[in-house]
Amino acid sequence: MASFPRTGEIAAQVKAVLERLGVSPDRLSGPNAARSPLTGEVVAHWGALSGSAADLSEANPGADPAEAAIGQAHAAFLQWRSVPAPRRGELVRLLGEELRAAKADLAALVTLEAGKIASEGAGEVQEMIDICDFATGLSRQLHGLTIPTERPDHRMMETWHPMGVVGVISAFNFPVAVWSWNAALALVCGNAVVWKPSEKTPLTALAVDAIFARAAARFGGVPEGLSTLLLGGREAGEALVDDPRISVVSATGSTAMGRAVAPRIARRFGRAILELGGNNAAIVCPSADLDLTLRAVAFAAMGTAGQRCTSLRRLFVHDSVYDALVPRLHQAYGSVPVGDPREPGTLVGPLIDEDAYSAMQAALEDARVAGGLVSGGERLGAEDALDAYYVRPALVEMPFQADCVAAETFAPILYVMRYANLDEAIGLQNAVPQGLASSIFTTDLREAERFLSATGSDCGIANVNIGPSGAEIGGAFGGEKETGGGREAGSDSWKAYMRRATNTINYGSTLPLAQGVTFDV
Ligand code: NAD
Repeated sequence: MASFPRTGEIAAQVKAVLERLGVSPDRLSGPNAARSPLTGEVVAHWGALSGSAADLSEANPGADPAEAAIGQAHAAFLQWRSVPAPRRGELVRLLGEELRAAKADLAALVTLEAGKIASEGAGEVQEMIDICDFATGLSRQLHGLTIPTERPDHRMMETWHPMGVVGVISAFNFPVAVWSWNAALALVCGNAVVWKPSEKTPLTALAVDAIFARAAARFGGVPEGLSTLLLGGREAGEALVDDPRISVVSATGSTAMGRAVAPRIARRFGRAILELGGNNAAIVCPSADLDLTLRAVAFAAMGTAGQRCTSLRRLFVHDSVYDALVPRLHQAYGSVPVGDPREPGTLVGPLIDEDAYSAMQAALEDARVAGGLVSGGERLGAEDALDAYYVRPALVEMPFQADCVAAETFAPILYVMRYANLDEAIGLQNAVPQGLASSIFTTDLREAERFLSATGSDCGIANVNIGPSGAEIGGAFGGEKETGGGREAGSDSWKAYMRRATNTINYGSTLPLAQGVTFDV
């Protein structure tokens, strides 16, 4: 069984790792306390003038940090858009190199600040490196189509141009990877970036800002403000949302946040990439490989302490395998090592804060009222880490899909329900407002293909025989309905960071009009 860290031992570690990552101490002052979920203790301080926007404000006294960051980013964009795309890719390649060099320390800081277990902290930084590699290659592939025209001696084509400044608003649970998914693509596409990270994870953002500065210094001649860090809470995010110089707002967080920002961005006809809440399900069919299913469900539902947008929250199990699978799940839930995420054996670290714990307890109470059988969910380790919130993940056998099941609770709760036929299970899976990730466990080809078809899962991610979480950067990431509809990372997601121009060129000496229109003057 894993142990729990003791209050007082984290601050010194955070200080040391920030130093190694090159975050200057003058960045670490201000009225706001940064806390570690490992113990709940204050580990550093920060202010709105802590990020790179501070330098820009100093260069432009009187301007507030958001104004300074956005103004400089816009000026930087006007230069950066003329740098050839493969050259822009070189900057991102260098960023990938700097991230490789900093991987161990940045991963450790992700663990200390966001509470991820060590291998998930390292995985998050690896994801940053992967997207840099992807974007570097992409910088030579930002190509458009050549399209046959109906007019003689004409050529029609598409060209792709940068949008301008991309504002990135990110959530606490992927404190560094979400920036990189956006920034790596935005930069090779010729945009500038202003990043407003979660107020719960300012330190990892400061570290990434320092890492980017090293890549920029090696590249040489990067316009000042090309990538800027704007620290703050909701108001700092709103500054990006409302400013017409922010051409694209990429906002990752709760559906409530998306509901607030989407109409404001739409009002000024800005472009939004929304990556919001999920309420992800898996269906376990009669033919499922139950050993594999058990492992996949355990990782997807308990991994990251249930604090991934793609965490598995609803499990529909066919009547015929329910009694073979669910007791084994109970065993896994009862024995999974919960505790200090720095220890190699730990699989479940802390919740981010007390609010997360309270929301989890409230959801479990609602489940009980609706007839659910709750096991787990209790707080652990409070005697060692007074202000930290470690919990045993909760497994809840539900008689039906109650309202509490249809809402996303950002904590390790897995609701388990029985089903009798696949149509019913797919219907239940789709009968929630969110549409991010989904899975089916089956060895029956017909069931698998049905699930992936137009009449199957309505989610942006639909998997067979793997859980809904743990996506790779090569695919487009995002979901439908209240998840917001945005797509990031691989495939053709880069198009969201560029504007498309359709060009028709007449290389003849006559002027034929389209659709046979005549207009002779
Ligand atoms: P949150 O919504 O509380 O905050 C996310 C970010 O939005 C923060 O930076 C916050 O300061 C900012 N923000 C909040 N309200 C705002 C407003 N009105 N205007 C501008 N900015 C605002 O989310 P959280 O608790 O940090 O993260 C958890 C949530 O994020 C979960 O719902 C999870 O599913 C979701 N999430 C989604 C994805 C995805 O890709 N779909 C990825 C990670 C997290």
